[in-house]
Amino acid sequence: MTIVAPLSNGNGHSSSGDSTPSSSSSPSPYVGFSTKAIHIGSEPNPHTGAVIPPISLSSTFAQDGVGNFKGYEYSRSANPNRTSFERAVAALEGGSRGLAFSSGSAVTATILNSIPRESHVLSVNDVYGGTYRYFTKVASVSQGIQTSFVQMDGQREEVRKRVHDSVRKETRLVWIETPTNPTLRVIDIALVAETVRSHPDASPDLRIVVDNTFLSPWFQNPLELGADLVLHSVTKYLNGHSDVVMGVAVTNDESWADRLAFLQNSIGAVPSAFDSWLALRGLKTLHLRMQAHGQSALTIARFLESHPAIETVIYPGLPSHPGYEVARKQISKRAKASFRPSSDDTSGAFAYGGMISFRLKCDPADDAPADVVLKNLKVFTLAESLGGVESLIELPSKMTHGSVALEDRIKLGIGHNLIRASVGIEDTADLIQDLNQALDAVRLA
Ligand SMILES: *Cc1c(COP(=O)(O)O)cnc(C)c1O
Repeated sequence: MTIVAPLSNGNGHSSSGDSTPSSSSSPSPYVGFSTKAIHIGSEPNPHTGAVIPPISLSSTFAQDGVGNFKGYEYSRSANPNRTSFERAVAALEGGSRGLAFSSGSAVTATILNSIPRESHVLSVNDVYGGTYRYFTKVASVSQGIQTSFVQMDGQREEVRKRVHDSVRKETRLVWIETPTNPTLRVIDIALVAETVRSHPDASPDLRIVVDNTFLSPWFQNPLELGADLVLHSVTKYLNGHSDVVMGVAVTNDESWADRLAFLQNSIGAVPSAFDSWLALRGLKTLHLRMQAHGQSALTIARFLESHPAIETVIYPGLPSHPGYEVARKQISKRAKASFRPSSDDTSGAFAYGGMISFRLKCDPADDAPADVVLKNLKVFTLAESLGGVESLIELPSKMTHGSVALEDRIKLGIGHNLIRASVGIEDTADLIQDLNQALDAVRLA
């Protein structure tokens, strides 16, 4: 078993003199998704044989002579547990470089700091709230960055036109999130990437970012679809156990990765060794968890469609979803191949992540019915966030999206009757029973 040298330490030089993790010429035996998730970054410890990397709490590392360190120098610049996690996620996303941060938001801030003052950003319109806040209240103030928010879902030619018309000479970033939150609109990444790159005014420095938090690399690999960088809030599915706040970026663009690593070290929003260790542990079961989230979410979406208290169910794997065809085209081959439809379901529906949104049959301005449902749930926990093994549920209009202006909420369809669920991996029957009794309570109220 070969022990892999650490990646570049973030100061622009690396211990081994090369920035690639393995100098061995034999092909890696870690081919499949699960094998990579379990083994990359977890090679047995050369000194003790430990199968799981020890937690390296040391903030600093001894040097043999001045500047002659054994791969690590100072834990902000690089830490063994962080390197392990970065290598594992990079492998799962099909990128050459991974960079971990103290939160998903810290990834966003660091990416924005890598583009020049007065740049233009072209963003999907219902982007994650914290990202919207960073664009409009931080990057605009400190870097003079202007952001256009554009609807990127819908009819192909309309999307192409809207995106085309929004590209400027100063555009340095195109920011995609798919599916969006909480209305789960599906964006065609390849379509947006092609449109942007073929634009006559497009700068050679323009880069495309995809926030892949909602689907994880199990369901979607944006680098294969034309993105330059993928980011995740590791807080959600990658860690998957609701006990870590962390973020990661993955890219194949070596020069951008060098700049981001420099900023990672300079800004210093890095994760702790313990969080990196926990997140790597979580990652080892990502493939199993995502399949369970997906299968259960689809079954629950079908159940919700049949309940009389429900007006609409939003789940991109359902044929009724406007983004169904794009989702079917864009889903990873492995997720598609692993999905087993139940024998009585001939609808063409498929598993596509663990997030479901639905609207209650009532006035979107009336918050009482949703309140009854949410109060009556016993297995689902009323809480923000998503992606953990436990099922969570929330009311976007008053919780995650409470700060979105009312007119924008109405435009995006985020009324008080819209509920967002993060389907966990408990027994599906218990989750359906729980939703059924809570929905019956509102119907009888
Ligand atoms: C949670 C989330 C973020 C922000 O990540 P934090 O780890 O909370 O900072 C970014 N994008 C999406 C889609 C998210 O769900």
